[in-house]
Amino acid sequence: MNPKKIILCPECDLLLEMSSVEEGEKLLCPRCGAILGAPVKDSVEKVLALTSAGLLIYVPAIFLPLLTFDAAGIESSGSIADSFLALINTHFYFTGLMVFLTAILIPLVKLVMLFIVAASLYTGRSSRKTAVLFRLYHHLDEWGMLEVYMIGILVTIIKMLHMAHVNYDVGFYCFIGLLAATLGSAALMDKKLFWDEIDKQALAREQKEGILPCRRPEPNNGPPALSTQGRP
Ligand SMILES: [Zn+2]
Repeated sequence: MNPKKIILCPECDLLLEMSSVEEGEKLLCPRCGAILGAPVKDSVEKVLALTSAGLLIYVPAIFLPLLTFDAAGIESSGSIADSFLALINTHFYFTGLMVFLTAILIPLVKLVMLFIVAASLYTGRSSRKTAVLFRLYHHLDEWGMLEVYMIGILVTIIKMLHMAHVNYDVGFYCFIGLLAATLGSAALMDKKLFWDEIDKQALAREQKEGILPCRRPEPNNGPPALSTQGRP
């Protein structure tokens, strides 16, 4: 007989009994409504493909010019890296640092982390270090703000349309691709599956190496079951 799997709601700490959930369904916490499970088909493969694509276009997206403005024959263009340097050169050090962190460094770190986690799961080589990396990835979630930068670019385009001719450069399309890869990989990542697989692979690896884990307690009476919400 399979033991009941007990989980804690990460939002409100309610003790719950995990129930099975199919693709297209969502498991909700009955108290706060937090989503506790939303299976995605081939989640590891999709995340691996999207993060690989994101890493491939990262350099052109950040270092190639996004837009060229042509006003009365005078052309001006710039990349995301140029905007960071311009802020530093005009002594806006704090704003420059925030642009560097949220639009250049942290999106790259997040992509690399998720790529390593997905690749180690795909190849069946994840360990406890993969779990640390995956936890760190979630801590950095609020710091990658490529979408905010995209809104800034769109506002600039709308404002400049009346004053100058706007040309879209290669960097602009690469940046949209990078944004799609970042948001897509986060959306298609089945968090529960990732954690379960990391746990399973790490346990198997430790057993091979002769490291014995402590026994997990088996629950005897059930907390409230999760509610299941089907796709409309
Ligand atoms: Zn809850």
